[in-house]
Amino acid sequence: MEHRDIVIVGGGMVGSSLAAALSGQGFSVCVLEQSPIAPFAPAQPPDLRVSAISPASAAFLAGIGAWDKILAMRATPYRRMQVWEGDAEQGTLFCADEAGVAELGHIVENRIVQLAATAALLEKGDIDYRCPAGIAHIAYRPQASQLTLADGSQLQARLLVAADGARSQVRDAAGIGITSWDYPMHALVASCRMDYGQQDITWQRFTADGPQAFLPLAGDTASLVWYQRPEEVKRLLSLPDAELIAAFSREFPRRLGGIREILARGSFPLTRRHAQSYYKDGVALAGDAAHTIHPLAGQGVNLGFQDAARLAETLIAARARGEDWAGVKTLARYQRARKPANLAMQSGMDAFCYGFANDIAPLKMLRGLGLRLADKAGPLKREVIRYALGLGLGVARR
Ligand SMILES: Cc1cc2nc3c(=O)[nH]c(=O)nc-3n(C[C@H](O)[C@H](O)[C@H](O)COP(=O)(O)OP(=O)(O)OC[C@H]3O[C@@H](n4cnc5c(N)ncnc54)[C@H](O)[C@@H]3O)c2cc1C
Repeated sequence: MEHRDIVIVGGGMVGSSLAAALSGQGFSVCVLEQSPIAPFAPAQPPDLRVSAISPASAAFLAGIGAWDKILAMRATPYRRMQVWEGDAEQGTLFCADEAGVAELGHIVENRIVQLAATAALLEKGDIDYRCPAGIAHIAYRPQASQLTLADGSQLQARLLVAADGARSQVRDAAGIGITSWDYPMHALVASCRMDYGQQDITWQRFTADGPQAFLPLAGDTASLVWYQRPEEVKRLLSLPDAELIAAFSREFPRRLGGIREILARGSFPLTRRHAQSYYKDGVALAGDAAHTIHPLAGQGVNLGFQDAARLAETLIAARARGEDWAGVKTLARYQRARKPANLAMQSGMDAFCYGFANDIAPLKMLRGLGLRLADKAGPLKREVIRYALGLGLGVARR
């Protein structure tokens, strides 16, 4: 049986960036990723799965050597973000200038982030990266978990990290429970070719049926997100392209403009999950394995990157001090650094979504007033934007 200090299960965006952050720090690290990642080619149309990457996340990715690689592939900066309700003209426009940053964020395809972080983790040559690597069995033991891989080989890990997403096998094997519930809506996502050229604005409109969002992608492409009741999403997905385009044109605001072509479409059920603990002796959870959040404000993987940054920092510092770095005292520090912040973001998002998801007149008035006030309140608005961008996290100002 082979032994490793740290085995990270899942080389997705969070697992691969955690491995890159641990590279060169003296740990023996193995990453197990079950699915090969398709290489990038500039002529490829945009993938369906994209994420809004905040400036704080971009700074973290730059620190591990992945951000330049992302920019060398494909990323779309957005400098303005508008939020409004119904047919109102008034809403809130957030601009990068007001927050003193060059951009509010970038929309990046998940595969590109994963490719860049994987290339970064391989750079120093000290990470044992295995892909495709399926797992047949995980036996949790305090600081000595044993993994049997699909090819029959065995690995023992002093610290086993669950970065294997929402349905984490590691979390289950360690017997860590979750609190979860389904949102009463699904997300229909479509990447489209639009009538106009490159955009630098992302917008969201709240309607009584659910929010609608526009995310700019490279050139004349964009990602449209339509939150709706699951049956309605199913119906919309079953429509031929021309009818789905007609439905977008009818139900989305006029500023959407013309859709020339639907390049890809899909739907995602939305579930809120939170692990009851982020650790056990010799096990730590990060990213979607620890928490999933309503995607409306595009925070999921941004929280995951903060988990990866803090977990790497905590392990490196504990080891430098000669502490039991895979033990519960160290891992409790990681949990204290991340769990309350993730919980606050989850709850904030829920309050926001449910606050907008009804038609009660006084609430509607309050929302409209809130959005107009937010638009006018200068210093407050600046602080709101900076908080949303994670600018407490050491991001370089312009
Ligand atoms: C519609 C939608 C829109 C979203 N938009 C945004 C956004 O704009 N901004 C944002 O920040 N977040 C967004 N999110 C959330 C974001 O996609 C997730 O938070 C993010 O993908 C989590 O990354 P992860 O690496 O933790 O998990 P995953 O992306 O689930 O990656 C897990 C990895 O582990 C691998 N794996 C799983 N099991 C095993 C195993 N047993 N052995 C080996 N490998 C395994 C998988 O192959 C995968 O590569 C959105 C989510 C949805 C549904």
